[in-house]
Amino acid sequence: MIMADSADNLLLGITGEIQSRPDLWRTFLGLCDLGPRFCGTPSERAALEYIEAKLKGWGAADVSRWEFDYTGWRCDLCELSIPAPPPGWEFGILPLVYSAGTPTGGIDLETIDLRRGTPGDFERAGDAIRGRAVIVDADYSFATHSIHRRRKFLPSVEGGAAALFLVNPRPGRFPVTGSTTASGSSIPAAGISREDGALLRRLGGKVHLNLQVETSPARAANLIARLPGRGEGRTVVLSAHYDGHNCGESALDNATGVAVTLEMARLLVPYTGKFFNDLEIHFFTVEEWSLQGSRAYADSLSEDNVKQIALNLNLDVVAGSPKLTFLCNGFGDLAEWARETLRDEPARCEVSEWVAHNSDHANFLRRGIPSIRLLAGMNEEDSDCGFHLSPADTTDKVRREDLAAAAGAAARVLLAALDSELPLARMRTGAEAAALLPHYGFAPPPGEGE
Ligand SMILES: [Zn+2]
Repeated sequence: MIMADSADNLLLGITGEIQSRPDLWRTFLGLCDLGPRFCGTPSERAALEYIEAKLKGWGAADVSRWEFDYTGWRCDLCELSIPAPPPGWEFGILPLVYSAGTPTGGIDLETIDLRRGTPGDFERAGDAIRGRAVIVDADYSFATHSIHRRRKFLPSVEGGAAALFLVNPRPGRFPVTGSTTASGSSIPAAGISREDGALLRRLGGKVHLNLQVETSPARAANLIARLPGRGEGRTVVLSAHYDGHNCGESALDNATGVAVTLEMARLLVPYTGKFFNDLEIHFFTVEEWSLQGSRAYADSLSEDNVKQIALNLNLDVVAGSPKLTFLCNGFGDLAEWARETLRDEPARCEVSEWVAHNSDHANFLRRGIPSIRLLAGMNEEDSDCGFHLSPADTTDKVRREDLAAAAGAAARVLLAALDSELPLARMRTGAEAAALLPHYGFAPPPGEGE
């Protein structure tokens, strides 16, 4: 246990521990060694057990599984071919989660190139996409101007397209992946490599797609560790999703966030009962499938539960670049608090009010709860963060010093929140929260217009 007589000394002690001990890095590698943690696989289950054993091993007294139902999905076959490929050419293709299947034996499809797949591209193409396989580029996920894949998928479905191919913008012959949508109608959708995309666009004509999928009722578990404070304050929720995709090691996304969150647990368990506010540490799953683990949890909270939460600090892709951004999701008052808190932070940190829809904090935000997502590589399209959602999301993309810097910066914000007796920001009303998330779910909720 770190001996500290003041909040400043505690932070110094904790950042010293992060830097000098091998735990954070070992935890990160340990998670990656379990495999990519795709929902419904033994690798996801192993990660849950790994996190649970770590927390209990460090003496966390209140650790529980929070189970929920979701629709499971599995792909048994995903093959792409063309009538006359260049000699020796092999396609690399990955289905998007919740993609529909093709008939047994596959289907022949005429392609149509919609370039980046902007709303304007879809509008110009109009009825020409009907019955055809739409080809669009994937955007870098972490840029203010990026267009999320779901905002390309949904217009494809609505326009009557027969399939969607998402082209990885990065060279290297590896496809990109992601999820389509957790509900509603679907079409076959898959990620392909930049090189395959260029070939299909150049040759035009027909492709043959054989995609065999299965859906079934499934159950998963978030993990919650509760570290009570002095019993006077509210609750700070620290979160990270432990699930990943069915390729690579899901190292950036999100072994980085889970490892840092576990490091916070390791260092703060000895301080149970010492802070003004309570700490709840949530490890969510089914995040990569439209944020379902955190959605189920946030939906289960009563209005009183919601008011009890002072902050959600969500860690998702926190290394891959030395540049860290604390995204404050439209909360100007929270951004001001974060800027003040990070004034003396040695790591390369920015505070942004940009609203990110694509991680678990969005479900806290939807309930009006002040929410921050820590992210590396914001607006850095060439950073290694762009390898997430692909077979190249592997441990070599993460530098040990970047991970330690992210943990140090996260600790600074977390400790300040745990010690704060004043609200960090004003809770937002339902209407205000909805206005912050115009693209939540990327379609209007049932019964509501957008
Ligand atoms: Zn993630």
